Amino acid sequence: MNAVKPIKSVDDLVEAGLATPADRAALEAVTARYAITLTPEITRLIDRADPNDPIARQFVPDAAELVVAPEERADPIGDHAHSPVEGIVHRYPDRVLLKAVHICPVYCRFCFRREMVGPQGLGTLDAAAMEAAFDYIGSHQEIWEVILTGGDPLVLSPRRLREIMKALANISHVKIVRFHTRVPVVDPEKIDAALIAALKASGKTVYVALHANHPRELTMEARAACARLVDAGIVMVSQSVLLKGINDDPAILADLMKAFVENRVKPYYLHHPDLAPGTGHFRLTIEEGQRIVAALRGQISGLCQPTYILDIPGGHGKAVVSGSTVQATGDGCYSVSDYRGGEHSYPPA
Ligand code: SF4
Repeated sequence: MNAVKPIKSVDDLVEAGLATPADRAALEAVTARYAITLTPEITRLIDRADPNDPIARQFVPDAAELVVAPEERADPIGDHAHSPVEGIVHRYPDRVLLKAVHICPVYCRFCFRREMVGPQGLGTLDAAAMEAAFDYIGSHQEIWEVILTGGDPLVLSPRRLREIMKALANISHVKIVRFHTRVPVVDPEKIDAALIAALKASGKTVYVALHANHPRELTMEARAACARLVDAGIVMVSQSVLLKGINDDPAILADLMKAFVENRVKPYYLHHPDLAPGTGHFRLTIEEGQRIVAALRGQISGLCQPTYILDIPGGHGKAVVSGSTVQATGDGCYSVSDYRGGEHSYPPA
């Protein structure tokens, strides 16, 4: 079936054959709490004959999302603790997140910001908040990189993106602007000449970090969208989440990483899933993750190796899940060192 419109409700899911009427009550409870959208491109990719289809599992709500584990938290990576002004997260000295928009083209069921994103949520920063965010960046000389995330910044119109880039172009100490997005995969036609032109600003190097988790997401259309970005001089890197039942297999991950490299997208981060509410069914253990990443090492070129990382709950930053930074302490628990040398328990008490 060719979907002609985005799926935005349980009724739409039932109509598209992605849920049954018997699922309705549980899924209504899920979508009352967490946003749902599947683009036509994603809906078309789903294999309805496979009850564990890795595309469906990423985007179709599941009653398991109603089960919240005690260690899960609304703000799993501690954005709020490091937010000096609305829309800015300043966790590390040389870079900030700029969360200009809290809308996404699709809503991933494992999203680490699932309590913050969605059409009913915080929307787009208004003009005054944007100005305050740019003032903050401009007054902090140490900020070398601005990372637009959210939400997905590429849902913004070229006009809005141009305004953002124009404001950043006026801040001389900012050298790098990075966009984190799913758009090239879930809505590839949006990556057109107008949008690409809007991402550029004189004196800034622009990176696009593409979020994809399964090799099937890299359709011909998605590959063409990446090619348009790279041909325009934009550097692309990848980010993926290691997800139980979706890509927790070295062969699948190898195919994904090779597909990134073949499309001039350098593998960057492989995230251990965060402790977002109702996402326990996606989470594997650190030990399982380490085993998968070790297997990957022997299988594929060094060019294809992502860095396996854990965002330390509470906002203490990222830790590479290897060597001395993440040490088993027994009973499935770990001691994790942050970049300042602080020690944290994982999972948190
Ligand atoms: S695109 Fe990113 S921010 Fe949006 S739902 Fe998916 S993981 Fe969350």
